[in-house]
Amino acid sequence: MSLEFEAAEILKQVALDEEIKGFVLQHPSLYQPLLHAALRFIGGETLSDCVETAKLLNQQGFSVTIDYMGESTRDADMAQQATQEFLYVIQAIAGQNLDSSVSLDLSHIGMVIDAELGYKNACILAESAQSAGLEMMISMEGTDRTNLILEIHQRLCETFDNVGITLQAYLHRTPDDLESVLQRPGKIRLVKGAYATPDGLAKPRGAELDQSYRQLMERLLTSGHLCSIATHDPALLDPIPLKYAHQFVQEQGINLDHIEFEMLKGVTQERLEAMKNWGYRTRVYLPYGQEWHLYLCNRLAEHPPNIYQAIADAAKYKYGR
Ligand SMILES: Cc1cc2nc3c(=O)[nH]c(=O)nc-3n(C[C@H](O)[C@H](O)[C@H](O)COP(=O)(O)OP(=O)(O)OC[C@H]3O[C@@H](n4cnc5c(N)ncnc54)[C@H](O)[C@@H]3O)c2cc1C
Repeated sequence: MSLEFEAAEILKQVALDEEIKGFVLQHPSLYQPLLHAALRFIGGETLSDCVETAKLLNQQGFSVTIDYMGESTRDADMAQQATQEFLYVIQAIAGQNLDSSVSLDLSHIGMVIDAELGYKNACILAESAQSAGLEMMISMEGTDRTNLILEIHQRLCETFDNVGITLQAYLHRTPDDLESVLQRPGKIRLVKGAYATPDGLAKPRGAELDQSYRQLMERLLTSGHLCSIATHDPALLDPIPLKYAHQFVQEQGINLDHIEFEMLKGVTQERLEAMKNWGYRTRVYLPYGQEWHLYLCNRLAEHPPNIYQAIADAAKYKYGR
């Protein structure tokens, strides 16, 4: 096992360790430097901080999508609070005239407590977003939730045309799911997939997954459907060395109006900048909130060299360098 792989596995455990999280949050000498490291990847701890970050990114020419971080809410009151916070997000986007959509996990607003509650809260948010002229993107979660999320999305699409969905290229089922969701309105966001999956349901990171991503991306790009190509992978995107997506778009003469490229805040923003300079619409996924411990650990786990950056960011807060 490589040291990098080992570090990534440990970070994934730390991400979910409530004891470590509680310890970090209670100790200002840890909390503040680590928050500083997390700020590279998030819009802030509060909505008002996030709005300021969104304005800066908009000024740099990027659209954003704002997510109030959280998932797997087990308590109905907390699901209501999360729904209320997303309503504030929609109001802030509209009120401040931000170039932003809203992104959410259905499990954050009650889906795992009761599917109907998740659906009802999603309807409230979709309606509010629609009246404000905004798009609402639904994230994709673990494989035990895929069917339910797709079912709720289908039901939402019977009433609303502003609700997008995320599909994970690593799942063997995704080519079929893509054909179904292509029949629905709302943007389709294609990601590789981030959750651990039971054996036999998904492809591991590597050449086979990249090939699936390319095929799904080609299907989406040529479909004329609104889509977001959400990857940081230079083999799939960059002009150098492979030019894959860009070359494909050029060769096929695809109209750019329905396409965007989307990346996480703080992750390879120079690649998103490059896509912007090549004439594409680009969007930054911008989460905020107090659940940054999990989010920071996941960003470090998926790319352990980020640990050096996080140490430098934390030290800058502590020592001002
Ligand atoms: C907008 C957006 C929304 C997403 N929504 C979901 C979702 O709903 N459900 C879900 O399961 N997953 C979601 N993801 C996460 C996604 O599934 C991947 O885990 C994540 O994007 C990394 O995969 P990748 O395509 O960049 O390819 P990878 O093969 O992981 O990475 C390719 C290259 O990108 C760079 N890179 C990747 N991550 C980092 C990093 N953290 N720091 C620095 N460099 C990095 C490296 O150069 C790496 O070699 C989302 C991602 C994005 C961008």
